[in-house]
Amino acid sequence: MIPFNSPPVVGTEIDFIRTAMGSGKLCGDGDFTKRCQLWLEQRFDTPKALLTPSCTASLEMAAILLDIRPGDEVIMPSYTFVSTANAFVLRGATIVFVDIRPDTMNLDEQLIEAAITDKTRVIVPVHYAGIACEMDTILALAKKYRLAVVEDAAQGVMSEYHGKPLGTLGDIGCFSFHETKNYTAGGEGGATLVNDAGLIDRAEIVREKGTNRSQFFRGQADKYTWRDIGSSYLMADLQAAYLWGQLDAAEIINRRRLDLWNRYRDALLPLAGQGRIELPSVPDGCRQNAHMFYIKLRDIADRSAFIDHMKAADILAVFHYIPLHDSPAGLRFGRFSGEDRYTSRESRRLVRLPLFYNLTDEHQSRVISAINRYFA
Ligand SMILES: *Cc1c(COP(=O)(O)O)cnc(C)c1O
Repeated sequence: MIPFNSPPVVGTEIDFIRTAMGSGKLCGDGDFTKRCQLWLEQRFDTPKALLTPSCTASLEMAAILLDIRPGDEVIMPSYTFVSTANAFVLRGATIVFVDIRPDTMNLDEQLIEAAITDKTRVIVPVHYAGIACEMDTILALAKKYRLAVVEDAAQGVMSEYHGKPLGTLGDIGCFSFHETKNYTAGGEGGATLVNDAGLIDRAEIVREKGTNRSQFFRGQADKYTWRDIGSSYLMADLQAAYLWGQLDAAEIINRRRLDLWNRYRDALLPLAGQGRIELPSVPDGCRQNAHMFYIKLRDIADRSAFIDHMKAADILAVFHYIPLHDSPAGLRFGRFSGEDRYTSRESRRLVRLPLFYNLTDEHQSRVISAINRYFA
């Protein structure tokens, strides 16, 4: 069976984990956490990167840092993971869903302005498949209406928009190191990039259960006390050790994924040329990280038949993101602004192919052959 995903393993992780185990400190903010955070800050040129237990936790931190309150509105796509919405609903916000562009499955930047009201506080662009949203337009709107921008860059680690790393364009950026993402912290993990330097002190407090313990450990306070609301948003150092193995090999992982992605595209271009499938598009100025390779089929029936065909060939292809806006919680906590022209329709046609660091050329060839047989 060729799985849809397998957690990336470089080979160095086990030695770093042993080192962490021998260090006498397994909890958060140990040596490996510091190493990973410094790497993220330098590689992506952001003033503060904080490791967290998940991208979900990073999004929750963002909502707390921006003081989101009941009655506030937050704009985001409906075609996203539940955590994008939940983080703000937990603070009492109403979610305002905006339709996506069919070419990238990202928030349609042309539809955002019509969704802005006097209650809007935040725009949350989700960089689907590691391909950037149209950030120039989004950032200009945020400036015009004095809104915050939180990037859900869960899938966007190592991607760029006009030369700038995803996660560093908004006030706050959120990364995921879940095992299904390009880099993992041993299964679960995330990072909060605090790009607005004015939010850094409070970000450290919120992450340390609402205390100024981070300052205390740096010798900037002689005791630590309860300062604010907060939670435990630290990653265990044992996990950071695994992540360090991955970040240290970030270029190698990125190159391998891009090779796999390009091979799928080259192999499937003829089918796209015949109008049998649609392939992902990468707009000018976007550098992607090959987080995902998807194809779009005719409709949901075609997709189900395709998934069954692949399964019969021992290959797992999967779809995801049942749109949030007409789910039970989406109806309760949100509303759709304007018309759902693409969100529902495109989400029913999309299927993802196996793509992970340790996928072999031989297995990829089997996937490509099985796809060609389906359309033959
Ligand atoms: C994976 C993902 C998340 C959640 O990440 P976790 O680290 O699992 O919490 C959030 N948003 C998007 C777009 C994702 O792909």
